[in-house]
Amino acid sequence: MGVHYERALVKMSGEALAGDAKMGIHPETAVYIAGQIAHLVATGVKTAVVVGGGNIFRGSLAPKQIRRVTGDYMGMLGTVINGLGLQDILEGLGLSTSLFTSIDMSAFARCYTRRDALADLDEGKVVIFAGGIGRPYFTTDTTAALSAVEMDCDVVLKATRVDGVYDDDPEKNPAAKRYSRITYREVLEKSLKVMDATAASLCMENSIPIVVFNIFEPGAIIKAVQGEPVGTLVTA
Ligand code: UDP
Repeated sequence: MGVHYERALVKMSGEALAGDAKMGIHPETAVYIAGQIAHLVATGVKTAVVVGGGNIFRGSLAPKQIRRVTGDYMGMLGTVINGLGLQDILEGLGLSTSLFTSIDMSAFARCYTRRDALADLDEGKVVIFAGGIGRPYFTTDTTAALSAVEMDCDVVLKATRVDGVYDDDPEKNPAAKRYSRITYREVLEKSLKVMDATAASLCMENSIPIVVFNIFEPGAIIKAVQGEPVGTLVTA
């Protein structure tokens, strides 16, 4: 089967980069993940990546001495830390990249403009987006959905540590069933933990399918982009 999708937005959670440690960046795990992205790029897919930051800081988990909004800015900075690391690791594998931040920090990376990011993506660079939307109370899932729209991507590949979306927590309930396919509406109505509602709505409005898959299953990302059954497909 030929490549089904041509421009992919990969949402990489910060937690995935941490591996079993759950915090920080685990080098071997991050290199493995970068390798999966390299495979994707090698198939000719134009690839953009939104990095999360949960392995460094989450605003909602800020201690009471730190305000939630401050915690969110700390979380956004965490995504920049991940973006810088991922950029170096991808370049170490021979890929050409560019890193954009939603908030100006020009000593670290380029400040996002749609025009510049589109030009780099069209050139075949792996375009990494860090800093989330750049405002508190948003998530990198929403950033992923918005970036997919802005970059004209035809799919969101949500790279996670589980092999799709379940009707219950598979770690707590062994009888939990995985959906191979669900609709955006079901995700919203059942509050399934695929993406937050803002992100799911944006994908729905713009008819961008989401594939939720396990990045630790070698080759799953290729199956996802080629439209082969893997993980969970979210569509209309
Ligand atoms: N965040 C934010 N605005 C954004 C994106 C992220 O305030 O547009 C903050 C928020 O505090 C979040 C943290 O950054 O908890 C890390 O991002 P996220 O949790 O989405 O990363 P993931 O859980 O996917 O690693």
